[in-house]
Amino acid sequence: MSGRLFIVGLGPGDLSLQTPRASEVLAQASDVLGYGPYVARVPQRPGLTRHITDNREELRRAGHALELAAAGRFVAVVSSGDPGVFAMASAVFEAIEAGDPAWRELEVEVIPGVSAMFAAAARLGAPLGHDFCAISLSDNLKPWEVVLDRLTAAARAGFVIALYNPISKARAWQLGAAFERLRELLPTDVPVAFARAVSRPDERLLTTDLASAHPNMADMSTLVLVGSAQTRRIERGKRGSWLYTRRSLEAAS
Ligand code: SAH
Repeated sequence: MSGRLFIVGLGPGDLSLQTPRASEVLAQASDVLGYGPYVARVPQRPGLTRHITDNREELRRAGHALELAAAGRFVAVVSSGDPGVFAMASAVFEAIEAGDPAWRELEVEVIPGVSAMFAAAARLGAPLGHDFCAISLSDNLKPWEVVLDRLTAAARAGFVIALYNPISKARAWQLGAAFERLRELLPTDVPVAFARAVSRPDERLLTTDLASAHPNMADMSTLVLVGSAQTRRIERGKRGSWLYTRRSLEAAS
């Protein structure tokens, strides 16, 4: 099989945060597949076919990409951020495991990208400096009870928590329920940051605390970071604040 399949992380938005390897592959691809806004980030040029699909069709998109690669095409499947974080890389491997055994012979390369939690953390300071975890609040692909159990365990364990997919039109109440659960478990003065559209023209950062955190501070382009008891806020007056989490637990207690 001569076809190749690249699973490409585009980074959080701005081209300067896309890796050179990702740009190199996208400049050579014959086919690019993905969700419309992500495919739109790949410059159009002669010889490039774009296949735009809805985000709810990840497995079908993965199967299509594998078929194209098996037919000898140079295929790029694109995700925002890192393709292995709540994104297409898992869908492709799931399709490979269940699909045509010949797909296992394909050349597949996963190209990492700057995930939203790292882009957001860098803007805010260093909130992920100690132990942390990432949880998707979407209950499209797992039961809500599991989300609540994981939030509870993460808060009890003292992790800083990065919340992906915090809210959408179809999932309006989940973020509020998550904050309610966290308020039962954490000091209500832990910092909470809402980092929206990081590195895009409509970027917006908002830092508050758990007591004041409200779901209307987030939309589907927002990464919500919930600090731990060790996360500190350095006030800068009109310039807002920096967040950082101490590297040393003893020093903070
Ligand atoms: N693979 C992506 C995550 C996809 S899930 C990554 O690694 O970043 C989609 C969620 O990611 C969004 O709902 C939002 O929570 C977050 N997200 C993606 N891009 C973002 C950005 N530029 N700024 C803030 N959050 C972002």
